[in-house]
Amino acid sequence: MAKLSIKDLDLAGKRVFIRVDFNVPLAPGGQEITSDKRIKASLPTIQYALDKGAGLILASHLGRPKGKPNAEMSLKPCAVRLAELLGRPVKMAPDCVGAEVEAMKPAPGEVLLLENLRFHKEEEGNDPAFAKQLASLCDLYVNDAFGSAHRAHASTEGMIPFVSKAAAGLLMEKEVEYLTLATQNPPRPCVAILGGAKVSDKIEVIQNLMKVVDKLLIGGAMAYTFLKAQGLPTGKSLVEEDKIGLAKELLATSGGKLLLPVDHVVAAEFKAGAENETVETIPEGKMGLDIGPKTIEIFAGEIAKSKMVVWNGPMGVFEMPPFDKGTVAVANAVADSGAVSVVGGGDSEKAIKSAGVSSKITHVSTGGGASLEFLGGLTLPGVAAIPEK
Ligand code: AMP
Repeated sequence: MAKLSIKDLDLAGKRVFIRVDFNVPLAPGGQEITSDKRIKASLPTIQYALDKGAGLILASHLGRPKGKPNAEMSLKPCAVRLAELLGRPVKMAPDCVGAEVEAMKPAPGEVLLLENLRFHKEEEGNDPAFAKQLASLCDLYVNDAFGSAHRAHASTEGMIPFVSKAAAGLLMEKEVEYLTLATQNPPRPCVAILGGAKVSDKIEVIQNLMKVVDKLLIGGAMAYTFLKAQGLPTGKSLVEEDKIGLAKELLATSGGKLLLPVDHVVAAEFKAGAENETVETIPEGKMGLDIGPKTIEIFAGEIAKSKMVVWNGPMGVFEMPPFDKGTVAVANAVADSGAVSVVGGGDSEKAIKSAGVSSKITHVSTGGGASLEFLGGLTLPGVAAIPEK
């Protein structure tokens, strides 16, 4: 990777500001963390910096407090959980800037968590004076918040001109490494699998990946817009009428790379356990809710031949059994392929967990929106701002 890494910095005795992504889900009331996955994902960088003798200032946003303090979006529960995970105290600051925070600056080996950055509207406003105040707390800056890298905010971009040195954390580095591999020079054959509700959410991803990958497999509701573009019947399936023209264009320019489902699990009603059948032609009055067994076989065959797989989005309404079969089959095929695998999006990640194959996936991206923008070929401001080596 061409970006400066935390491993390139001399951290001993330094005060290091680490922008982490502690935007964790909280139970109503804001006291209880329902998943500490994001805190755990930042542990390697935090532990690395502590091992090198740094004092740490950690900062994150949580939720959408819209520029005002909000007790239900405090990062306090994250300080408690982080202390448990690290096995050392984590001090909680009452704010992220100001005299009280200044007075709490950590000594080497100490960890201070700043309060929610978005309690100040200047964070999302990328206000230079606020960015300078944040920067004044530290000697060095590290960005490990890949999940926020698609936002040009004070803590992800604005601070960097005001610090003496800035670098990527270990999680950021890993995310950029695998997503760059997928979009630039992947091991071949490289297969991308895209699913989910809408074509409109993933247009850039389809266009960008089509330039790079050898095969692009499309499942989920987004497939029906493409089927309709081919003049095939789609019954009551979800179709984005205003994207049919675009789907036609993509099909015409795909050079045969784009594979669509050849059979479908259909039902008359959108509900778990709905009476269903497998068809090749979607009948009037029915909707496609999953890919069928022939499609699973074709998709699994392509995945098995690949050396790299990129997967984002479910193949059907996987939250509603029995319409989860296609998604689970794809999760198993990706895991069994032995290919370098990069999975993004909460739904694909859930499918991988429920199939019990998480340990066989090379990299599960922590940033939903950020990874889609990256795969779509867009420049992420938080990544662009980190200096080159
Ligand atoms: P996305 O957020 O775009 O990745 O879409 C995920 C959602 O797409 C999930 O909630 C799925 O239930 C939904 N989805 C996938 N396939 C279908 C389908 N055939 N019909 C309706 N919804 C679908």
